Amino acid sequence: MNYNKKTVYDIDVAGKKVLLRCDFNVPQDKATGAITSDKRIVAALPTIRYLLGQGAAVIACSHLGKPEPSFEKWVKKQTEKGKDPAELTEEKWQKSLKKLTLAPVAERLSELLGKPVVFAHDVVGPDAKAKAAALKGGEIMLLENTRFEKGETKNDPALAKELASMAEVYVSDAFGSVHRAHASTAGVAAYLPAVSGLLVAKELEVMGKALDDPKRPFVAVLGGAKVSDKIAVINNLLEKADTVIIGGGMAYTFAKAQGGEIGKSLLEEDKCAYALEMIEKAKAKGVKLLLPVDTVVAGEFPNPIDAPVDVETVDVTAIPADKEGLDIGEKTRALFADAIKNAKTVVWNGPMGVFENPTLAKGTIAVAQALADSDAVTIVGGGDSAAACEQLGFADKITHISTGGGASLEFLEGLELPGIACLQDK
Ligand code: ADP
Ligand code: MG
Repeated sequence: MNYNKKTVYDIDVAGKKVLLRCDFNVPQDKATGAITSDKRIVAALPTIRYLLGQGAAVIACSHLGKPEPSFEKWVKKQTEKGKDPAELTEEKWQKSLKKLTLAPVAERLSELLGKPVVFAHDVVGPDAKAKAAALKGGEIMLLENTRFEKGETKNDPALAKELASMAEVYVSDAFGSVHRAHASTAGVAAYLPAVSGLLVAKELEVMGKALDDPKRPFVAVLGGAKVSDKIAVINNLLEKADTVIIGGGMAYTFAKAQGGEIGKSLLEEDKCAYALEMIEKAKAKGVKLLLPVDTVVAGEFPNPIDAPVDVETVDVTAIPADKEGLDIGEKTRALFADAIKNAKTVVWNGPMGVFENPTLAKGTIAVAQALADSDAVTIVGGGDSAAACEQLGFADKITHISTGGGASLEFLEGLELPGIACLQDK
């Protein structure tokens, strides 16, 4: 995959209509619909300000949540969820869509920019088209939720063409959506010159460089709940890194595969063979593979997740039958931190334990601390790992925290991302 893509800096946008795909998929209060964090809107400001400053007329668009744009399908889905079909009226469906309008985002964006944001009440309908046609250089509008259109998630060329018809240039700045081939994230690029915005450019520059041409030693730290979620990530990073560290829930499948007793710890029996294969692959490639040596165990998984929990530390291959491993132990923390200390590039995906519980967050904190203390290029990808860094207060000491959960995972897997592949090469 080529990460060397043109950005907004490489093209002339003055006086042009620019269709800008943003990630305005903001969290909202369930009851009131109020935006509970405007981080994603704030993150989009540099690209928007740049384009407006260049004299572009910016037509911003985004999806929000998962609306069901077909009434029949909505009825089917609700019925499957156990709702009474007799009560599923067209009016209720319309109401479910209205909850996911981007109107509150337009309002917040306007406050942040300190200028009006014209809001279109449809995506490619008469309102959007009229407002786009009237938009002048230096002005900005926002289209309604792209997923209100049936063709969006199907990457329907007809919808992509309609979107493109309003603009002269396409800018992709929704990194969290570039792993999806949708009409507004990829399809539209077939009809317009397409470049990246500043957010996507930063992701490509930092993560792309780390994977293609890393400063060495390159250490990859992998964790999280399941091996099955991370198979492709482990496999791809064994191709690139000098050291691969595996912690978190998936480490127990590795321990079991090597003949250890892991008690009630997370185990994916059908992935044991794969774990052994990865151990062999590391040996063959001369990659150092570090696995936990000790683990923090408890009798039960805490419920609720942050409830007080009684723990002890045991050898990772000798976990008592009635105990469950929920974090890496003290020796392992030191072992992992030591490997990270000498790195020049570190990529981290997946927490080392059940970090949502303060008693079980020590392993994840130790890794975050090691990244924070190192002078390496440090990159965190993955939704929960990014959340852990923010929550534990390490975010400003990390070189780059990827903004896209699923997208950054696919990036680390070495997959081709449709929303990136469609952009013009430099
Ligand atoms: P990311 O979103 O960063 O890719 P994952 O979604 O793969 O990370 O994994 C995060 C989850 O893994 C967290 O909710 C954490 O509680 C859980 N986890 C980590 N270690 C364990 C463990 N030993 N047992 C059970 N769950 C674990
Ligand atoms: Mg996750």
